[in-house]
Amino acid sequence: MINYFNILNEIKKSDCLTLLLYFSLLNNYSVLSQVTVDKPINTCTSHKSASRLLNRPNTVSDNQKMIDISYYKLEIDINLVEQQIHGSVLVEGNIISEEPDIIELDLSENLTVDSVLYLDNLWDFIHLNDKIQIIVPNNLNDDKYFSFEIIYHGRPISTGFGSFNFSKYRGIDHIWTLSEPYGSRDWWPCKDDPSDKADSVDIIITIPSDQIAVSNGLLVDQIDLENDRKKFHWAERYPISTYLVSITTYPYREWTDEYIGVNGDTLPLYYYVYPDHYDMVYDNYATTKDMLYLFENKFGEYPFINEKYGHVEFIRGGGMEHQTISSLGGHSQWLIAHELAHQWWGNLVTCESFHHIWLNEGFARFSEALWQESIGGNKAYKEYWIAHAYYGSGTIFVEEPTSAYEIFNGNLTYNKAGWVVHMLRGVLGDSIFYETLKSYGSNDSLSYNSASTSDFQKVCENKSGLDLEQFFQQWIYGEYYPKYELFWHISDKNELIVEINQIQNWQYFKMPIQLEVIMPGDTILFKVENQNKLEEYNLGTLENTPYAVYLDPDNWILKEITYRNNILTPEPKIIIYPAYPNPFNSQTVIRYFIPEYLGEVESFIRIFDVRGNFVYEVETDRWETGYGVLNWKPKNNASGTYFLQFTSDKFLSTQKIVLIK
Ligand SMILES: [Zn+2]
Repeated sequence: MINYFNILNEIKKSDCLTLLLYFSLLNNYSVLSQVTVDKPINTCTSHKSASRLLNRPNTVSDNQKMIDISYYKLEIDINLVEQQIHGSVLVEGNIISEEPDIIELDLSENLTVDSVLYLDNLWDFIHLNDKIQIIVPNNLNDDKYFSFEIIYHGRPISTGFGSFNFSKYRGIDHIWTLSEPYGSRDWWPCKDDPSDKADSVDIIITIPSDQIAVSNGLLVDQIDLENDRKKFHWAERYPISTYLVSITTYPYREWTDEYIGVNGDTLPLYYYVYPDHYDMVYDNYATTKDMLYLFENKFGEYPFINEKYGHVEFIRGGGMEHQTISSLGGHSQWLIAHELAHQWWGNLVTCESFHHIWLNEGFARFSEALWQESIGGNKAYKEYWIAHAYYGSGTIFVEEPTSAYEIFNGNLTYNKAGWVVHMLRGVLGDSIFYETLKSYGSNDSLSYNSASTSDFQKVCENKSGLDLEQFFQQWIYGEYYPKYELFWHISDKNELIVEINQIQNWQYFKMPIQLEVIMPGDTILFKVENQNKLEEYNLGTLENTPYAVYLDPDNWILKEITYRNNILTPEPKIIIYPAYPNPFNSQTVIRYFIPEYLGEVESFIRIFDVRGNFVYEVETDRWETGYGVLNWKPKNNASGTYFLQFTSDKFLSTQKIVLIK
């Protein structure tokens, strides 16, 4: 899912009032009950760690843990004038552990349950505190199979991000649903738990015949009824979590495209848009097919290859990855890539509970960067992570998943979690990393099922042979990031000695670190393992004396770095790395880092020749915090020495660069 507030986080960090108002609305949502988490953590400080995370409430009751749902048939008749629904939901499942006295389903008290049927007979029930309690029949078979039909009606309320909505677009009726995290119960009775997928769901919608009703899976039947009404029957035959079931209706304009799978299967792509948006969205929608080829290559085949993929427009902003049919409130490529990636990470493998939502959203954010990489190369990929860095507090593991705001925190659940996937790529290397993702998506017990952080960790460890315990502990259950300080010198024996100091006053991070040693005419990469406060590395004797050593030059680690002896800045707050290459021929690259606490900095980089004549200004603007990269590609400048001057209101740095033609 992409929410309004994520978009706001990214576009306008200063718009706090809007965000606060929005968050306060979201925070009104709450639900009850219990869960245990899968990890403790050892940490060296009083900052947040998983030791504080035990026994948080969940929405799944003890009675619900004793049943396993296998099938739902939703039949929903929508009255647009009265803004009412009349529904009947057939629920099938099995009792899987010690027999409960009651079978419990979630359904908002705002809706009225007219009757519960068991074997076509009226059956006793209680509808209280948003739960329907049904007495367990005493004549169940040995497999403890049960089947109930719940008849209900009413006007659904919206909680969380929307649930079920009677909207209009351009004055015309428009129904949309968005049930993540706990909104399904606002419009249909179910066991509203992401880890208990039904094997199969039928969604049968009756609506005025000028509307097109869109849902999960395949459209298996359309029946014209009396009184200008029509019935649409959609069938989802892959396992599906309740929050991924959706209904969207409007007199859409529709068209189709095709994707051919690796085994030659043809997957239809269905697009349903507001008629006046057709021209606007068409070109970006057409890129969906290329994204499917990219993600198939990286993650494995599209998980719902026997059905469809598609987009349906809804009036809410952002997007939601409803299984086989994403609801889109925008049409940017990154939004399309994000929701498509969720078909693997979220829908094929679903977070076991919303404590572990990063397994959905961090992976989807990472996939946006993969799409950037495929169209813009490695530079675009790296820039994507610079733009989505988060250095603030909080754990990616959601400590309090009763709050929609906590679950869908744009900085932690999306940006930092995306960074974790990026960092894992750096730790494992591309080949093992993508093998790991494919293995995760095809794992016998996780695929078409659900996963926790420890399940994913096990897959990573099995594939790589590495012990990743501390990696997951520090990044998922711990807070912040490492602040490195680097000092290097040449020893008496002419060896390069590099000291790396973790200067933060919270946990120490265990990470492999690349070191780039710059020497006249040569650059050498080293990789070292780092985990303690202060570590010293002997990199041996080099042919030339280095003039700079850079830590993590490709930015695989979320970090801050201070160089004690290879930068030329008198003021350590802003770091300007030496231009590289230097001397240079066609272009030189200047990296800089602006710490978050400085905020945006108004600054200039200007280039002067040896006589002090102004030659070129690289960029003039307010610069955002984090890492940045600039290039200078001289056009008609002669060979020789130039001076590169970085100026801001409190800072001046000058370095010499040499152009050789
Ligand atoms: Zn998402």
